[in-house]
Amino acid sequence: MKCAKCHGKMHAEKFYGRNGTFHGWRCLLCGDIIDPVILLHRLSGESRIAIPERNEDLMRLIQKYLRVKGSLKGRESGMRMGIQ
Ligand SMILES: [Zn+2]
Repeated sequence: MKCAKCHGKMHAEKFYGRNGTFHGWRCLLCGDIIDPVILLHRLSGESRIAIPERNEDLMRLIQKYLRVKGSLKGRESGMRMGIQ
């Protein structure tokens, strides 16, 4: 994954927040941190998307969006017919 600010390499990391631990990504170049909620908003493009309460559900949803994005990149013809 690449940093949205500097396009540096993002590194998965475990963070300790107010509501317990969560997994996020930190940019190795500029130190920008993306948490799963931010990432989900970016991936979905919906600002009012429902955020799952459990961390595992959240990560599963992110992986789902990442898969959709990845498959769209590879098959352009499929993109026109497909998911939109
Ligand atoms: Zn960066």
